[in-house]
Amino acid sequence: MTDEDLLARRVRRGHSNAVRDILAAASAPGVLSMAGGLPAPDSFPVAELTEVIDQVMRKVPNSLQYGPVDGVPALREIIAARASASSAPVDPARVLIVSGSQQGLDLVARVLLDEGDSVALDDPSYVGAIETFRQAGAELAPVPSDEDGMETQVLAEQLRRGLRPKLVYVVPHFHNPSGAVLSEQRRRHLAELADRYGFLIVEDDPYADLSFDGVRLPSAAVHTGRVVRLLSLSKTLCPGFRVAGMVAPAWLGPRLTAVKQCADVQTNTFGQYVVAGLLSRPGFLEKHVAGLATLYRTRAERLSALVAERVPGLSFTPPRGGLYFWCTILDQALDAETFTTAALANGVAVVPGSPFCIERDGSRYLRLSYATLSPAETVAAVDRLALTFERGATR
Ligand code: PMP
Repeated sequence: MTDEDLLARRVRRGHSNAVRDILAAASAPGVLSMAGGLPAPDSFPVAELTEVIDQVMRKVPNSLQYGPVDGVPALREIIAARASASSAPVDPARVLIVSGSQQGLDLVARVLLDEGDSVALDDPSYVGAIETFRQAGAELAPVPSDEDGMETQVLAEQLRRGLRPKLVYVVPHFHNPSGAVLSEQRRRHLAELADRYGFLIVEDDPYADLSFDGVRLPSAAVHTGRVVRLLSLSKTLCPGFRVAGMVAPAWLGPRLTAVKQCADVQTNTFGQYVVAGLLSRPGFLEKHVAGLATLYRTRAERLSALVAERVPGLSFTPPRGGLYFWCTILDQALDAETFTTAALANGVAVVPGSPFCIERDGSRYLRLSYATLSPAETVAAVDRLALTFERGATR
């Protein structure tokens, strides 16, 4: 038996290291990175966190102890309140606290997917979701998307022709990587399709609080009970605590909890108390989210203007929120992988489109993130992109 034979079949199927490799290269000294999905570190509420951490240490001895698998009750209540709409209130009993929404995706895959089950998702989609569903052995059913998100008319046609997904995965606000916001009409349509065909909608919504103009649309859960919502706090507060909320239909909750217990017993207790303490400070969240909007809008506008002025080889729709620019390379002869390698040699890291794409040809696309660079670094990074195009054109 070889070492490889020892691996489980689902792991042997192989998985992509493309993004990890790029991120490793992007952290080399001297490289300006537009590659990661990292939130701006200067957006982290460090002063408030320091106070809350001190209070938790002094006043909540349980914060260093094992806690309930489902999560700390105070945090479940806060997440339930955030997830509630007046027409569709969420009972805290339906909230499971998970170690990041990535764990939520993994739990969904483990609890619901057998090998060969079908999962429909936008093309392009979040690479972490693609990998999770692929490792679970799912067949991916790509659905085209535009600036209003998943083209649900196309999904409806696919369903009419016999597609029977167990899950339809969407990123409803400021999609990673496309930046799209799933329109209200399409959310309603998706909910109708879920009721008609019996699938679950997985709404992975980490960017909802990063809206430049305040747009925030109601969840499909307002229209149907067939929704699993992943409400990460990684982009709203900071990713390091690994704390996210998951709201699932009542029948699914105990199954998710049982699998979570095997995975990691519970999400870290201390982080949950700190996040709960911070979010329950009167007025904190409203003020913080308003600050995020200003910070990210300013950075996005800066990058937008610079790319439009200096990099004519890229076209893009400026995003309305989130962290990403999804750009098309206009020169048909230049492919994204070659461009990414050349850009890295010139000291700027970006991500090529292919890891996000299922059937769509990813070689025409690049994802740029603007979140972590200072104004001066953004200018330098765009100059390096422009230089890469100039050198590429004369090669
Ligand atoms: N879903 C999407 C769409 C993401 O972009 C990310 C992070 N980049 C995640 C999930 C993972 O987030 P978390 O830190 O909550 O695990």
